[in-house]
Amino acid sequence: MTTDMTPTHSAPLADNHLLPAKIINAIHEHSTQSTPLCAYIYDLESLAERIKTMKHCLPANTQLFYAIKANAEPEILSTLADHVDGFEAASSGELNWLQTHQPNHPIIFGEPGKLTSDLQQAIQQQIDTIHVESLVELNRIQTLSQSLQLPVHIFLRMNIDIGDIGSSKLVMGGKPTPFGLDETHLKQALAIIDSSPFIEFCGFHFHLMSHQLSVERHLLLMQRYIEVVKKWQQDYPSLPSKLTINVGGGIGIHYDQRPQHFEWQVFCQQLASMLTENPQFMVRFEIGRFITAPCGYYVMEVLDIKKNLGETFVIGHGGTHHFRTPAAQQHNHPFYIVPRRMSHTMVAEPSENLIAQAAITGTRATLVGQLCTPKDILAKDQWIDALHIGDYLVFTLAGAYAWNISHQNFLMHEPPKMIFL
Ligand SMILES: *Cc1c(COP(=O)(O)O)cnc(C)c1O
Repeated sequence: MTTDMTPTHSAPLADNHLLPAKIINAIHEHSTQSTPLCAYIYDLESLAERIKTMKHCLPANTQLFYAIKANAEPEILSTLADHVDGFEAASSGELNWLQTHQPNHPIIFGEPGKLTSDLQQAIQQQIDTIHVESLVELNRIQTLSQSLQLPVHIFLRMNIDIGDIGSSKLVMGGKPTPFGLDETHLKQALAIIDSSPFIEFCGFHFHLMSHQLSVERHLLLMQRYIEVVKKWQQDYPSLPSKLTINVGGGIGIHYDQRPQHFEWQVFCQQLASMLTENPQFMVRFEIGRFITAPCGYYVMEVLDIKKNLGETFVIGHGGTHHFRTPAAQQHNHPFYIVPRRMSHTMVAEPSENLIAQAAITGTRATLVGQLCTPKDILAKDQWIDALHIGDYLVFTLAGAYAWNISHQNFLMHEPPKMIFL
C-alpha cells in the first residue's frame, strides 16, 4: 500500500484522494536539468490493488472484462491480465494488439462498423465472442462462418428504450444512436441465427451509458436489462433459458471535488441479490474508465507564469496534445502542485528576481500547455496557493482516455516520458 502525503502546496481543486508519496518521489527522480519534466506516471501497484478489489466484490455468476480502448499500454494490460476474465477489443487494430500482447486471454470484439475482413479475422482467430451490431453484420457473419466452416459465438448488441433511467453525461443508447439492433429486428435476427449451423447465440449485449456516477441508477439499468431479456425469452421460445447478459461498461469517475467515486462495493452487494433472484443469468461487465483512470498521472513542469490583460496564466511543459481529457470532457481537470526541489536547477535558469516576480501566491490562474491555440487549457481560473517556475502540475485521474485520445501529432512536440511504477 502507498503512504499518502499532502504536497506542501496542495491545490484546492484537489482530487479526492491524496497524492501518493511515490508519485512525488518519481517526479523528483525523473527530473533532469536539461529538459523540464513532461510525463505520464502510471501506478501499476495501485492498479493491481484496484482490479483485485473490484473482482473480489463481484458476486457469483459475473465476469469482468477490461475494455482496452480506455488505455491499452502493454504494462497496463499485463497488470490486469491475471485478474480479469478477458479483454474487449473495439477494432481490428485492438484485436491485433491483444493478439500480440495478451494472446492467451479471452477476447470479445464489438464496434458499429466492422469490415468483412475484421469479422473474418475474428472468426479465424476463434475469439471468445463477437458483438453483432446489425442484421447486415449478422448476415455477413453467417456467410463467413459457413464458408470458413468455423463456429462463431455471438452476442446481439441491443438498443432499448430506458425511459428516465438514463441521465448520465454521454448516453450510448436508450435513444437513437448508431449502436446495436433495434428491438423490432430481433425476430429477424433470431431467424438468421436459427438457420445458421455455425453461429452460436450466447446472449445479449447492452452498453447504454457512459459516465454513470449513480449506483442507484446503474442498478435500475441492470434491472431493466434483466427484465427485458426475460420478456424476450417469453416472446421468443427459441431463446435459451440460460443466457449471459453483457451489461457493458460506462461507470463514471468524478473529475471534480466530490468526496467519493461510484461505490463499487455497494453496487456489487445489491447486484448480488438481483442475481440470486435470477440465477439463470450470467452477467458480464466490460469496463474501461473506472478501472484505469485512477492509476494515471500527467505531469507538466511549469515553464512560465505570466499576467496578461488582467488574468494569470501558467504555462506547463506539455498540453492537451498529450492530455486531451479536460478538453474532451470540457472540464477543469483536478491537479496538485508539487514544489520543485531547490537542488533541481534548470538550464538557463531565469534570474532570482524574475523567478520571484513570476511566482504567484493566493490568486486565480489558468493552467495551459505549449500549443499555439487558446483551446489548450487543462484547468481554467483555478485558485493557486503558491506556485513557482520549475514546480510541477500533477493532473490526477489520467489513466483512461488520456494519452491515447490526444492529438499527439499536432505541433510535433516530443511525446511525454512514460513512467511505470
Ligand atoms: C467504450 C466501451 C466500453 C467501456 O466503457 P467505459 O466507459 O470506459 O467503461 C464498454 N463497452 C463498449 C461497447 C464500449 O464502446
